Amino acid sequence: MKNYDVVVVGAGPGGSIAAMEAANRGLKTIFFERGRRPGEKNSSGCGLGPRMWTDFRFMKELTPEVCPSMRAGAASRSYFVNKQGVVAGYVMARPTESVSYEPAKSFITMNVYRSDFDPWLAAFATKAGAELKTSTLVTGLLRENDRVVGIIDEHGEKYRGLVIGADGVVSMVARQSGLRMRWDQDHVTLVPQYDFAVDPQRIDDIMGDETLAVWWSALFPAAYQVFFHDGFHLGLGNWMTWWDKNPLYYLDQVVKLDYFQRLVRVLDARPREYHAHLLPWLGSPGNTHTDNVILVGDAGGFPCPLEAEGIYPAMITGRAAAEVAADAISSSDTSKEFLDLYDRKWQQTSIGEEFKTGPELARIWRALPFSPKETMSWFVPMIMEILGGILDWSQPHAVRVRQVMRHVKLYLPQAVPFIMRNVLPLLEKILGERMDMLTSPEKLIASMPELQEAIASAFEEKEERA
Ligand SMILES: Cc1cc2nc3c(=O)[nH]c(=O)nc-3n(C[C@H](O)[C@H](O)[C@H](O)COP(=O)(O)OP(=O)(O)OC[C@H]3O[C@@H](n4cnc5c(N)ncnc54)[C@H](O)[C@@H]3O)c2cc1C
Repeated sequence: MKNYDVVVVGAGPGGSIAAMEAANRGLKTIFFERGRRPGEKNSSGCGLGPRMWTDFRFMKELTPEVCPSMRAGAASRSYFVNKQGVVAGYVMARPTESVSYEPAKSFITMNVYRSDFDPWLAAFATKAGAELKTSTLVTGLLRENDRVVGIIDEHGEKYRGLVIGADGVVSMVARQSGLRMRWDQDHVTLVPQYDFAVDPQRIDDIMGDETLAVWWSALFPAAYQVFFHDGFHLGLGNWMTWWDKNPLYYLDQVVKLDYFQRLVRVLDARPREYHAHLLPWLGSPGNTHTDNVILVGDAGGFPCPLEAEGIYPAMITGRAAAEVAADAISSSDTSKEFLDLYDRKWQQTSIGEEFKTGPELARIWRALPFSPKETMSWFVPMIMEILGGILDWSQPHAVRVRQVMRHVKLYLPQAVPFIMRNVLPLLEKILGERMDMLTSPEKLIASMPELQEAIASAFEEKEERA
């Protein structure tokens, strides 16, 4: 039996940060990775959100020298694909004027291959003094008097200490500690993706600073495309309950699009790998801790409820878990009751804020891109009618405006209930009492002197003209 203060299972982003923060607090820490090195078993999540640069100062040290796959991009594209498989239009966007978060002004995501990023991150933990044991599968939890006191590895070696389960979506720690037997099928998604190799210069020449694309369509659940230094991923996902065909069938619908094929040709993209991963996607995380055990990252169900950004939440919960572990160990109390502090800690972070509207955010995603046949069948043509309808010279413009309005009216029986069911509850939660303003034009005008002034001067101008 080997004795540690903290035993971390998993050396993904959650495990490495937990190990680093625990070691920085003077705790004797070990973290385990079943792969030969961190990142070997994980080629999934890849877009790093800007919040990471503010919350983790060492992120400034992430450079192409240490992470050759990295590629930053400020622009993202949404493609709208109609039922005939034609890209009916697209919108490109950059960080907007209202963005107040400094790092996010220059890039939307920093894309990295996990095989580069995870080892880089784990090195901060070993530098801080944590011991990393690779090529070691943790197979069980060690119990004494029915209480978890540590872990057992595949060789039967025992390690005692407070256990931090950072072992990803299929978490042995969650299962064996009794925190979760298995995911509800409606809480976990399956995400198949292709990895394509592309010459870096070609990506820059053709894509510029585009980093990310989302393909919206009734033919498949929303697909994402993420560009790296020398390639891109194309993937899509949905809850396990949704698939009525092999998930590859839907991914191949994107690959077969003429537009996508053209992109493949101009980029000279070559298929390199195929992956399929599970990813938890919940409105609120499940059970997160019990006596002497804390779950972080995917193991605890922490990916963002709207778009499943999971690396940042894993790192934030890894840090919160280490802080609580340090307090618990110095108080000689690692009971579930003491570890309740963990929930209070992560709830005070940026991801706690995210989960305040978690059920509503997850519901919108479920109703929109994850219900392609029901929702995208009217959403895509409606958006395209609004965006593209006016730019048409086949009639006088006034005639076209009337035609567009008449046509958009056809979608209202679907759009209005959708908004009432899915959008208004979210706005109510976000805006609270200010929601009144949206439903009452008088209140809106009364609360905005600038608007009152603008309306008054518009009327004055009209009178003068008359
Ligand atoms: C296709 C896909 C795309 C995604 N894209 C993004 C994205 O763009 N941005 C983003 O932020 N998130 C993304 N995510 C989510 C993100 O990948 C995860 O949320 C994140 O990796 C969670 O980190 P983690 O440390 O909790 O778990 P993981 O990254 O899964 O790490 C767990 C580690 O534990 C190891 N391990 C597991 N079991 C054991 C064991 N018993 N013994 C020893 N070692 C073990 C594994 O090998 C692994 O290294 C994506 C996910 C998928 C599936």
